[in-house]
Amino acid sequence: MSSLISIIIPVYNEMGNITLITKTLDNVLIKLPYTFEIIFIDDGSTDGTLNDIKAAANNNSTIFFISFSKNFGHQNALKAGLDMSKGDCVISMDGDLQHPPALIPELINKWEEGYDIVYTIRKDNTYLPLTKRKSSKLFYNFLNKISDIDLEIGTADFRLVDKSVAQLMRNFTETDLFWRGLVKGLGFKQIGIEYHPETRKLGLSKYNFKKMLEFALKGITSFSVKPLNAAIYLGFIFSLLSLLYIPYVLISKYKGVAVSGWSSIIITIVFFGGLQLMILGIIGIYLGKLFMQSKQRPHYIVKEKNIQ
Ligand code: UDP
Ligand code: MG
Repeated sequence: MSSLISIIIPVYNEMGNITLITKTLDNVLIKLPYTFEIIFIDDGSTDGTLNDIKAAANNNSTIFFISFSKNFGHQNALKAGLDMSKGDCVISMDGDLQHPPALIPELINKWEEGYDIVYTIRKDNTYLPLTKRKSSKLFYNFLNKISDIDLEIGTADFRLVDKSVAQLMRNFTETDLFWRGLVKGLGFKQIGIEYHPETRKLGLSKYNFKKMLEFALKGITSFSVKPLNAAIYLGFIFSLLSLLYIPYVLISKYKGVAVSGWSSIIITIVFFGGLQLMILGIIGIYLGKLFMQSKQRPHYIVKEKNIQ
């Protein structure tokens, strides 16, 4: 019997793209000697996405869907896809065709060669906005410096994992899932392959600047506690600096020009006030994470599905 391969695709308001991606996938998969199950995870879409998926599922018995009760986010949608998939390996990809289905045969080949995880590295091209390319580079460099994982710039959620890895991933219960980091940190036999992203076929990116910043903060605070330690170093550096300040204060006093120090006092207060708030904020983020984690809420709630 040929292997079963699962393809999981989170979609949020991707009306129109569903038909496109199912057609493109069809053309690629038909040439391959495997059985496939294509699972769309409708992440609480408010447009006709779910109807489009249902229509596609009616015409094609290898297409399945899970529909959430509301928007739970891309990473949670990936978790749902993993939870429901039964394949010997699981491929995850975006529903806007930015992750070219034409790369699937190559992902599978690497798996057949014995790799447990085949991830992809986005080679930047001018299709992507400059701000997105720059901010993504900055983020990966920073994350790599500050954490124990080492993610290549442009690693996204377009990857294949073997069923043994998928099983491990299903067991992750942390609140803020950041799959690209978690998977990299699992070890096993991994390989990255490069690809050139396509332009988004229809609709707009769901990651605006605010969402991207939130995602970046989640990633960093999920993989590193160094920002918490920053307080110690900053405190140390500024205590040293203030020691240097003391002679100046004393000399001013001796010269009788102490009152002229008003502006420097204000500047110091404002500066340290800001610094303390920033450090409190960092502590707050981690505390918030602990709080959310302690509730053990589900990653997603399924409203409707046609898969067991
Ligand atoms: N997506 C999702 N839930 C969300 C946001 C996005 O399921 O809350 C899906 C989206 O439909 C797409 C994929 O995740 O299939 C990647 O999102 P998008 O293309 O908007 O991100 P970008 O490629 O711009 O980083
Ligand atoms: Mg996209």
